Formats: sequence, C-alpha cells, structure tokens
Amino acid sequence: MPITPAMPAHPPSPTTAAIIGAGPAGLMAAEALSQGGARVDVYDAMPSVGRRFLMAGKGGMNITHAEATEPFLSRYGARRPWIEPLLREFGPGALREWMHGLGIASFVGTSGRVFPAQMKAAPLLRAWLHRLREGGVRIHVRHRWLGWDENGALRFATPEGEQSVHADATVLALGGGSWARLGSDGAWVPLLEQRGIAIAPLRPANCGFDVGWSTHLATRFAGQPVKPVVLNFTDSAGVTHSRQGEFVVTATGIEGGLVYAFSARLRDEIAASGGALVHFDLLPGKDVQTVMAEVARPRGSRSLASHLQSRLGLKGVKVALLHELLPAEDFSHPERLGAAIKALPLRLAAPRPLDEAISSAGGVPFAALDQRLMLRALPGVFCAGEMLDWEAPTGGYLLTACFATGRAAGQGVLAWAAQRANDASTQES
Ligand SMILES: Cc1cc2nc3c(=O)[nH]c(=O)nc-3n(C[C@H](O)[C@H](O)[C@H](O)COP(=O)(O)OP(=O)(O)OC[C@H]3O[C@@H](n4cnc5c(N)ncnc54)[C@H](O)[C@@H]3O)c2cc1C
Repeated sequence: MPITPAMPAHPPSPTTAAIIGAGPAGLMAAEALSQGGARVDVYDAMPSVGRRFLMAGKGGMNITHAEATEPFLSRYGARRPWIEPLLREFGPGALREWMHGLGIASFVGTSGRVFPAQMKAAPLLRAWLHRLREGGVRIHVRHRWLGWDENGALRFATPEGEQSVHADATVLALGGGSWARLGSDGAWVPLLEQRGIAIAPLRPANCGFDVGWSTHLATRFAGQPVKPVVLNFTDSAGVTHSRQGEFVVTATGIEGGLVYAFSARLRDEIAASGGALVHFDLLPGKDVQTVMAEVARPRGSRSLASHLQSRLGLKGVKVALLHELLPAEDFSHPERLGAAIKALPLRLAAPRPLDEAISSAGGVPFAALDQRLMLRALPGVFCAGEMLDWEAPTGGYLLTACFATGRAAGQGVLAWAAQRANDASTQES
C-alpha cells in the first residue's frame, strides 16, 4: 500500500504582502516575495507602473556600472556601510544576469556605464511585468496610499472610492521627491512622521544650480553644452575635487553630468555657507603658460575674439562665459584673461528645486530600519528604494541600489514571516 504523507490539518496559508510603489524597488520586492511563495499585491497611485524607470530609459538608461567593486561602493559615500551588504547580495553583476534572464542583453559603454540593449527601459519593464504577472503578482494602479486606518489596515484612494487592505506585511517603495508628475511626490513623508518615524528632509540630488545669468547669456546661450572643461571645487575642509566633463548652460544657471557629479557637495556647501564657488578650466588640454603666452601674443588689427579662436580654439559659449563673468578691464590684461581661461570662477547661488532633480537625498534613515529593512517602530512594514536616506551620482548607481534594496526588503519580509511562524509554532507546542 502506498504511504500517504501526513498532511497538516490546516496547511499554512501563504504570507500576504502589499507592496506600495511600482518602481524598480517595489517591483523587485514583489519578485522576491512571489518567488518565496507569498501572495503579492502591488499598488501604485499612477495609472501605469514604472513611470520614472521609463523616463530614466528615455535618454539612454544606465542600469548599473561596470567599474571595480571598490570605486563602485565608494559612490554611496557616508551610506556605504548600509548599502554595501545589500550590494554584496545583489550587485551590478547579479543585476546584469537578472536582466539577461529576462531576455534583455546589456552592454558596457565607453564610460563603463551599463545599458540595456537599445538603451531603453520599456522592453525590460514589459518582459518583467509579464514574468511577475505569470508568477501571480497582482498589480493595482490608481491606488494612492493614504496611510493606515485605526485598525491598522492600509488606506487607498481609488477611482471607486476609499478602500482598506489588510496584509501580513507591507513594503513601502514610494520613491523620493523629484519628478512628482511621474508619481514620486514625497507625500509619504508626513504619513510616516505621524507614526513617529523621523524622516531626513528630502533634498535635491543630481541637480542643476542657479547662477543668475544676464538676460543676454540666458537668452543667447541657454541649452548650449560647454565642453570639454574641468570643474574644480575646494570644499570647506580645503580638499580640491576636480573632474573633466561637460555641462549645459540653462536659463538660470548650469546642469549636466559634470555638475551632477559634484551636486551633493555643492548643495551641502550652499546650505552651510550660502553659496559655492567653483572654477572651470575652459581649456583642459593646454597648460597655463601656453594659454598666457597665446593670449599675450600681439594680434595686430585682429579682434580679441578672432585671436582667441585662432590661437586657442576658444569660441562661442566659452567666450560668452568669459564676458559674463569677468570685469571688462580683464580683457586688456593678458595675464588676468589667461588665468581666467584656466580657472574661471563661478558662484553658485542655489540648487534647483527638488522636483527638477534627477533623484533625491534624505528619506527614511537606515537607523530606523533593522537588517531586513523593516521599520523598527512598525513591525511588518519594510522600506526600499530611493525613499531611504542615501544618495549616489548618476551612472547606474541609483537604480542598482533601488533594485538591491527592493530585493532585500522582499527577502526581509519572507525571513520575518518565517520567524513569526516559527515563534507561533514554538508557543503552541
Ligand atoms: C530623468 C531621469 C533620468 C534618470 N536616469 C537614471 C539612470 O540612467 N540611471 C539610474 O540609475 N537612475 C536614473 N534615474 C533615477 C531612477 O529613475 C530612480 O532612482 C528610481 O526610479 C527610483 O526607484 P524607486 O523604485 O525607489 O522609486 P520610483 O521609481 O520613483 O517609484 C516610486 C513609485 O511609487 C509610487 N507612489 C509614490 N507615492 C505613492 C502613494 N502615496 N501611493 C501609491 N503609490 C505611490 C509612484 O507612483 C512610483 O511609481 C533617473 C531619474 C530621472 C527622473
């Protein structure tokens, strides 16, 4: 006679999990949870999911970076101790393999940045959503989370009116506070503060800065790239940071990759002292002696503009910046002009508003979370993604940490639920 294994009278019901926020962090938490056997419902306020992720894919999405582990980890600055263990579990290599598993090839650009094939996010998101739905994940759009009711249920505003949802565990993956029109509006901050969680103020990261240009510069040169240049910035500790790249003149100041790379330091300097002074080397390929000698070389009847263009290749927006930022008399002093070409001072007045930034700093402090990314003050509530208090430059570091924290939160829910079940059965026996 075949032996039938004894079945428990009541098979354990799967953990129910509500994920709020269907960006990369929330969807990754959903994947980890559904793979672990949980019943997963994902809620998002917007009419469709992953809007910011899709926007990141518009201009060529850097999903991660191929540089060595040490420099990679250093990009998370003061938050490295918290992010590092999560990246060791699911870092750039694992992320690329995961993407390949969805049938999306990746390639490494000349800068070391890793892109999905076609450089777009849409095919990746499509394939991912398909796999999640196949795995039983249910996605509810137009569900804006409003907090908790007096019974501890999650409150959602939906087109059919307010609904309340009970789940064993909740993962909040609500994004930061930039690009509110794509969903991440930071409206979750007071909801957590009301529950006693101290949130680090959301601040712009990877942002542009206001300078206050003349009308002439703003109207004639806004939108023009300035390249190549070296940006030099000496921080309050006297350490000079330098990097070559390019920036863009905007109607009010500057933005672009080179500026974003310095933006955390510049933002903090402005907050501390009311402004930040940077210096641009407009001719990184030429040393200061050469520049001085060429500026001083007799130019006969030629205008200064054509002299600078023919002797140094300096023209257009770079010359416009010199005129904007130097006193008129400096153009009659070759030494002053030469020095300014190699170190043009520019005072930054303010970061652009949070909503315009690529990402935000601040959020839920790691100290408020346990190792599973569960809020110590709210057992069963986990947090992931950009709403956590960390920041990183652009170049794939943002998405990599969003995926890693999402996965960790999903696995954290499974570990927490397993521990609860274990504790309950120990109590029963
Ligand atoms: C223009 C642009 C380009 C970028 N390019 C890159 C890049 O190339 N590489 C890179 O690494 N990063 C890039 N980023 C940053 C990256 O997109 C974000 O860091 C990432 O999307 C954050 O993921 P997340 O899941 O934490 O939050 P989000 O992607 O912001 O998702 C949060 C979700 O929560 C939902 N939500 C918020 N509040 C509620 C609520 N109350 N109720 C229900 N749902 C809610 C939102 O609708 C949203 O769908 C870019 C960002 C922008 C704006």
